[in-house]
Amino acid sequence: MGKDKTRKTVYTFGDKKAEGDAGMKNLLGGKGANLAEMNLIGVPVPAGFTITTEVCTDYNALGREKVVEMIRPEVEAAVKYVEKIMGSKFGDKNDPLLLSVRSGSRASMPGMMDTVLNLGLNDEAVLGIAKKSGNERFAWDSYRRFIQMFGDVVLGMKPDSKEDIDPFEEIMDTMKEEKGFELDTDFAADDLKEMVKRFKVAVKEKTGHDFPTDPWEQLWGSVMAVFDSWMNERAVYYRMLNHIPHEWGTAINVQAMVYGNMGLNSGTGVAFTRDAGTGEDLFNGEYLIDAQGEDVVAGVRTPLQITKEGAQRWAVLANVPESDRVAKFPSLEEAMPKIYNELLETQQKLEDHYHDMQDVEFTIQDGKLWMLQTRGGKRTGAAMVKIAMDMLKQGMITEKEAILRCEPIKLDELLHPIFDPEAITAAKVLAKGLPASPGAATGQIVFFADTADEWAKKGHKVILVRIETSPEDLKGMNVSEGILTARGGMTSHAAVVARGMGKCCVSGAGSLKIDYKARTLTIDGVKHKEGDWISLNGTTGEVYDGKIGTKDAELSGDFADLMKLSDKYSRMLVRTNADTPNDSTVAREFGAQGIGLCRTEHMFFEGDRIRIMRQMIMANDEAGRREALEKLLPIQRADFEGIFEAMQDLPVTVRLLDPPLHEFVPHEEANQKQTADDMGISVEAVKQKIADLEEVNPMLGHRGCRLGNTYPEISEMQARAIIEAALNLKKKGIKTFPEIMIPLTGTPEEMKMQELLVRNTIATVFKERNDKIDFMVGTMLEIPRAALVADKIAESAEFFSFGTNDLTQMTFGYSRDDAGKFLPVYLEKGILEHDPFQVLDQVGVGELMKIGIERGRSARPGLKVGICGEHGGEPSSVEFCHTLGMNYVSCSPYRVPIARLAAAQAVLKEEAAADKSKKKKTEDKSKKKKSKDKSKKEKTKAKSKKDEGKGKKSAKKKK
Ligand code: PEP
Ligand code: MG
Repeated sequence: MGKDKTRKTVYTFGDKKAEGDAGMKNLLGGKGANLAEMNLIGVPVPAGFTITTEVCTDYNALGREKVVEMIRPEVEAAVKYVEKIMGSKFGDKNDPLLLSVRSGSRASMPGMMDTVLNLGLNDEAVLGIAKKSGNERFAWDSYRRFIQMFGDVVLGMKPDSKEDIDPFEEIMDTMKEEKGFELDTDFAADDLKEMVKRFKVAVKEKTGHDFPTDPWEQLWGSVMAVFDSWMNERAVYYRMLNHIPHEWGTAINVQAMVYGNMGLNSGTGVAFTRDAGTGEDLFNGEYLIDAQGEDVVAGVRTPLQITKEGAQRWAVLANVPESDRVAKFPSLEEAMPKIYNELLETQQKLEDHYHDMQDVEFTIQDGKLWMLQTRGGKRTGAAMVKIAMDMLKQGMITEKEAILRCEPIKLDELLHPIFDPEAITAAKVLAKGLPASPGAATGQIVFFADTADEWAKKGHKVILVRIETSPEDLKGMNVSEGILTARGGMTSHAAVVARGMGKCCVSGAGSLKIDYKARTLTIDGVKHKEGDWISLNGTTGEVYDGKIGTKDAELSGDFADLMKLSDKYSRMLVRTNADTPNDSTVAREFGAQGIGLCRTEHMFFEGDRIRIMRQMIMANDEAGRREALEKLLPIQRADFEGIFEAMQDLPVTVRLLDPPLHEFVPHEEANQKQTADDMGISVEAVKQKIADLEEVNPMLGHRGCRLGNTYPEISEMQARAIIEAALNLKKKGIKTFPEIMIPLTGTPEEMKMQELLVRNTIATVFKERNDKIDFMVGTMLEIPRAALVADKIAESAEFFSFGTNDLTQMTFGYSRDDAGKFLPVYLEKGILEHDPFQVLDQVGVGELMKIGIERGRSARPGLKVGICGEHGGEPSSVEFCHTLGMNYVSCSPYRVPIARLAAAQAVLKEEAAADKSKKKKTEDKSKKKKSKDKSKKEKTKAKSKKDEGKGKKSAKKKK
């Protein structure tokens, strides 16, 4: 590495000129690129320069000395450039230029890295500033701020632990006490002089050196410290959470200081061009008079509202009478109307220019407005949708832009109950698990599904807390407000079922110690009993102590409009995974275009069915099984009628029985006794049967189509129930499109055998009823081998649906149920970028899917293909499914809107990529043509020269 001579490392801006622009975020960071852009569009920005992100990467590789040597000439030239624009000189005694040094990476990482302000001050420069500004207090206030920030950031005086106090704050607090002051603004110039003296003593004590007086030493120290802050613990953690690569590096912005702390005609603030919480098209923000930027964020003083309307709304909430508000809490609009109007115009100009809601920082220096930053503002899911749809209506963006503006995953926030924003700020976090199913839940702890049921019937709100859940807990889960488990990942039983129900769930919270016997939950040594209140945030995985108020999500017209718009552009359909008429109806309301997976096993747990199911499993022979299946048939048929009716006119994929049978057996003594009584056998015989059914590795055991092939009567009963239900509805004039799906096929023969069985059963039913309907028989592709022999499987499968939960499990060889033990460490160590059970592994699992589709369609052109694993509702996976040419994705009801938006974005991103490559091809072609023409010209030139030479030669010869 190292600098090649042509590489530019510093980009200047100022006075409405800039070397960079908004398109250069990768090189200049978001802040730097936008500072340049603001200059180009005539917004007042203090002059400065940006050191590129590439230098940060060099710094991490080469170290300080080499990097300083490499960029010194460009930095020195850039400082001269700033001096010229500002008319003052860096390091000058009488009229010193002071600088700010700020980080700015490609993706915004708010508050994660360091900043140094008022750089360039020393004992002489402070006098110069005091004299020039005629404001001694301001000069000394700036100096004490500089020592404090430089000391913390560059000299490492910031305390390591939260419990320790910052040495500078300690001095300030002592002085406030000595003087009886409350606010920083109470200090007069002489106090600040004293403070500077004490600060310098503290520096000497802590570091053993005097505070550096040379401005260049200060500048280089600050630049390198900001580069260092790219690798500080919180920045590294933030990047890990937000999947920001460490290689990106941060840029550094060095700018001429403007001062908000110059007195009552100065100030500083932060504003949003629209409401970031609701999306309302209302300019809003906060400001402080006589302050510098960090004061607003630090919360030392309470900031005031920028607009009069905002201030009035605030006053209502804060119970402040209007007369008091005007006197004590005036808006900027009222306090500085001229500046306010300028700010209003500027924010509009920025929003119009960027076509997006902006989050801006500004400083008012002695009556003049300066903009210090603009960036796309972070917003809630609700605001995201409203802003996109409003901007579309306002003609600021196109339909396609509106779709791309919305982050699919953030739609989640709109669909589930949320915590009352005020209540949550005071809540105490007890533990953190996986955000398994979004939403907010508050309730009393119960440890057993039965208890959940009993308590819920009495009107209690409960949270079911389990080490892990099993299908036996389904009923308890259903009546609970939320589910919390100590074990299990994102595709654990609890997670999948909860998402299907749209119920809040936090899974795999490892710090939970659950004692079923004592009915206690211990976290960090603190015991919580049955009946104690806890709250869960399924969107973040946080577990809170106590009861926290929640409120229901309200879906707006904008949301419906966005969904309609998405469907206009998407090519893939979105179906849902649903097992009940209720789930089906919810999913339909969210726009599901059919059911992609109906897991029939979930139907066997309700009410008395589990008892019949257990009789079937415990039976010693086929006759015994058939007896039980006879009883299950009408129940299943009625279930299917309910689902088909809810989904009328749309296809419904019903999967035949999949899980290992032992999941249905009774584990508790009372249930074992009941089964024994039902079957007229002894409890010992029941226990023996349970032991026989036990498998060492059930996920790879007697499950899926292996059940249907060893006990064909199960598949027969299910196929019959499905088709009889459809025929019954046909009689009522209700159209159905059943698709019967065989789970877990690995060999074409397994599939063939099930296909024949299903088709023969259906043929019998058609004959009995003297009626028929259209149906399909297909399979799930969830075993790697199935993808490899997909052409052979497609001979008997009319459709494929990728079961990516199992396919991921079997491709990685990671148990779905036990991966929670090592996945977090793998993610932390960067061995894996994502949890592959949440985000589809496109390289490995995806390759198998690609092969499966190609081979399947080679045998059966036009084969319908979908996905029904959990990935079917994850945006990047949905996009990948689109690129594979799938017909549909299927996901839990509450993820349907997310998948609809992601499916539309997939088309638009593909279009954009095609346009880009077309453009590049045209450019390459014209470049080639140009260079061809050039070389042709050169050749002709050379030839004529040669000919000329030849002529000369021959002339010579002739001579
Ligand atoms: C799958 O494996 O992806 C799937 C959808 O089936 P299940 O989760 O029920 O095993
Ligand atoms: Mg599966």
